[in-house]
Amino acid sequence: MKVEKAARLLQQNVGAIRKTGGNEMVKENLAQVQENIRRACERAGRDPNEVTLIAVSKTKPVPMLEEAYEAGSRDFGENKVQEIVDKHPQLPQDIRWHMIGHLQRNKVKYIIDQVCLIHSVDSLRLAKEISSQAEKKQVNADILIEVNIAGEESKFGVSAEDAAQLIEEVSVLPHIRVKGLMAIAPFVTNPEDNREYFRQIRKLAVDIDAKNIDNVTMSVLSMGMTGDYMVAIEEGATMVRVGTGIFGERNYK
Ligand SMILES: *Cc1c(COP(=O)(O)O)cnc(C)c1O
Repeated sequence: MKVEKAARLLQQNVGAIRKTGGNEMVKENLAQVQENIRRACERAGRDPNEVTLIAVSKTKPVPMLEEAYEAGSRDFGENKVQEIVDKHPQLPQDIRWHMIGHLQRNKVKYIIDQVCLIHSVDSLRLAKEISSQAEKKQVNADILIEVNIAGEESKFGVSAEDAAQLIEEVSVLPHIRVKGLMAIAPFVTNPEDNREYFRQIRKLAVDIDAKNIDNVTMSVLSMGMTGDYMVAIEEGATMVRVGTGIFGERNYK
């Protein structure tokens, strides 16, 4: 039964990815992803309005983002400061930009007032810089703490054990607000393999929430990508970050 379900989920994903090239590709993929989100919510007894779909547009040209915008996308995710700085002025101003990639301290100043949420904070040093740049621009920065849930060496993020302490330290900074956790699960072909990691993230958020730290909420769980967003939603994700499933494969050349 479990295997059948996994196979079906994977099939739906592959269906979305295959539709590359041609007209209306982004629009069709987006509709498929939204339908998958709706179904995952139904399985989990959740309201689809609780789940924000972030269209991960890194490496993709502005016209593709415009197509997604016209089809209703308002949340876009990028992993490079330069790309946000380039794309931001070219697209409608009601877009909510999400910084989802590793952020260097010396680049915080370029995006601090351009993004609605920084998903990838994993050190006090970075948080301090975000708070001080936010102060200069007279804004409060909303952030997530990135957790390296599987302890993978290749990934950024604080360990699950150290997350609560980092959050306590960050919470006292004046211009920053912790809104929840972000995790990048391992790359797997069977999304079921990541279910346990998503559960652990959810549990970690519940535990941290129970500490009632001032200025900290655990309202956002940013987890799930093209390969596993449906499982992530079943396990409580409130933001899913889908790139390939919407825009097709990326070409890094
Ligand atoms: C690229 C990226 C994604 C999207 O990955 P896909 O597999 O293309 O959906 C999600 N999250 C982060 C942090 C990324 O860098």
